[in-house]
Amino acid sequence: MFDIGVNLTSSQFAKDSADVIARGKAAGVNGILITGTNLKESVRAQELAAEYSQYCWSTTGVHPHDASSWNENTASRIAELAATEHVVAIGECGLDFNRNFSTQDEQERAFTAQLAIAAELQLPLFLHCRDAHSRFIALLKPWLDKIPGAVLHCFTGEKHELKEALALGLSVGITGWVCDERRGLDLLELLPLIPVERLMLETDAPYLLPRDLKPKPTSRRNEPCFLPHIVNRVAAQRGEEPAWLGQETENNARRLFKLA
Ligand SMILES: [Zn+2]
Repeated sequence: MFDIGVNLTSSQFAKDSADVIARGKAAGVNGILITGTNLKESVRAQELAAEYSQYCWSTTGVHPHDASSWNENTASRIAELAATEHVVAIGECGLDFNRNFSTQDEQERAFTAQLAIAAELQLPLFLHCRDAHSRFIALLKPWLDKIPGAVLHCFTGEKHELKEALALGLSVGITGWVCDERRGLDLLELLPLIPVERLMLETDAPYLLPRDLKPKPTSRRNEPCFLPHIVNRVAAQRGEEPAWLGQETENNARRLFKLA
């Protein structure tokens, strides 16, 4: 299995990232994609990916929350970083109208600029969309035939949004959101609609600790070592063998991000 969404640059991992990686390996996680969320974090993500070469890779980009930081300098630095060997995708990028930490205009500008970088460098996309589905699709669609694939990470949307994403050829990242008995049930029911070759799995660590994990870590921190718990939940809902699903979803990640 492969964890496509780990915020390893989070301050929550500052003291023990090596232990976190070792625990992930011991739990059967065969690789990790470290999420870059702004220029500074993308630089750090690339450094960590280089440090744990052949186990970790990284994305480089600016999250919609950080879109107000986007300028010409960001664009050229992101493109430079993206050309280095440990960076395998542009992102996370997209739109998040849930909290609007950056204005919608700023978000749309930063997203479109990153779509252009992905097309120019021929890199896949690591996408984020929350409460912005129609604008997100409208901006993304014209670029899709110029970009070598994309995953919509941490999908938590509705059935028609899932169907539209799949119809456009996107892969879908599923987190431990589906382990949340309060708000994950709708998503759980959609899981069988995702063709296995389009499915990827992720913890989004340190966020989204699976709510039904027993025992829960006292830190309340999510880690890649809890990915097997998510694989089990998703496989059970889809009526598949967890070991098989873990391998299939890992193959999907390695194919999209062109990993050895
Ligand atoms: Zn995200």
